[in-house]
Amino acid sequence: MKTALIHSDEWRRFDYGPEHPLRMERLGLTWRLMEAYGLTALPRAKVLTPEAAALNEIARFHTREYIEILRAASAGDWVPHAARYGLGPGDNPIFPGLWEAAELVAGGSLLAARLVAEGEANRAFHFAGGLHHAMADRASGFCYVNDAVLAIMKLRERGWRVAYVDIDAHHGDGVQFAFYRDPSVLTISTHERGDRLFPGTGFVAEMGEGEGVGFSVNLPLQPLTDDAVYEPAFEAVVPPLLGAFQPDVLVLQLGIDSHRTDPLTHLSLTVQGFTRVVKRLLQLAPRVVALGGGGYDLPNVARAWTAAWAAINEVALADALPRECQSEMARLGLEQLSMCDPPAEMPDDTRRWTEEYARRQVASIQENIFPLHRL
Ligand SMILES: [Zn+2]
Repeated sequence: MKTALIHSDEWRRFDYGPEHPLRMERLGLTWRLMEAYGLTALPRAKVLTPEAAALNEIARFHTREYIEILRAASAGDWVPHAARYGLGPGDNPIFPGLWEAAELVAGGSLLAARLVAEGEANRAFHFAGGLHHAMADRASGFCYVNDAVLAIMKLRERGWRVAYVDIDAHHGDGVQFAFYRDPSVLTISTHERGDRLFPGTGFVAEMGEGEGVGFSVNLPLQPLTDDAVYEPAFEAVVPPLLGAFQPDVLVLQLGIDSHRTDPLTHLSLTVQGFTRVVKRLLQLAPRVVALGGGGYDLPNVARAWTAAWAAINEVALADALPRECQSEMARLGLEQLSMCDPPAEMPDDTRRWTEEYARRQVASIQENIFPLHRL
């Protein structure tokens, strides 16, 4: 198994602003936890620093007009109708260097894709990536450039069948709609139901269009869905579809805003539940390009992505967090200084309410989408 980890210190230069929930600090924190566990110096794992993506690579998905707007806004030029491109106060603020940040995230995910496409790694992880909401001509949901779409396009150059599985708490709308008519890219997103959470899409009935019908799959979930409900629903849907589709490569969006303490969403997963799902996904394809995603409770981000990188390398981790990271994690609000979260009770009626909803979604996928894949 050859693996690659993509990381840059440059992220410290960028800041969405003091009120914004996406904190760049989460990336450095993740790196430090990986380092403390000895995961940044594994014998068969390359650690690489990304470079900015070339403009023509970004322009394979994004419109030239939108790219010019991003560059002008980033340089501090006045941009008329910025809101038309999703930019402005709120989710997608204009901050100095936003274009450089966007180029770098695109470059990191393209590097991960290239390493896997050229056989230099079987599995690569770019945890600053996974900005799955960006559209071809519009910023959305903290995402300016859709690095996941660009990585998939890069892998498609090889003629490979690409499956994309997105376990972020939000629907992976930008990626789904980029390949909505394309049967060579299977997208599967599990997320909190769109009538309860941004971006408002991701229902089972969104199945693709034209030749792509059946190749967009959505498993929406009730708020408060926990591991005990999530894992069987995931198991009922994702492995059979990947088994039928037989991807050459799997692109993963590993957002951890599905965690029970995340301040922006209402799912109720644990780090150990997340990690079991990642391990399951790794079994389902010969090659993997893993990306990060959402995650707004910082210690969860560091723990989950460290656990994911350990799983990618098939390394077991001690449950107690390394001593050198403990005070920083405690300061950021982590109560139990371990990889695994403590058990939590779910009231029976809440459990039934989440289970019943998940059961109906799974049944709908099995009825409407499975036959299109001869399942
Ligand atoms: Zn998210």
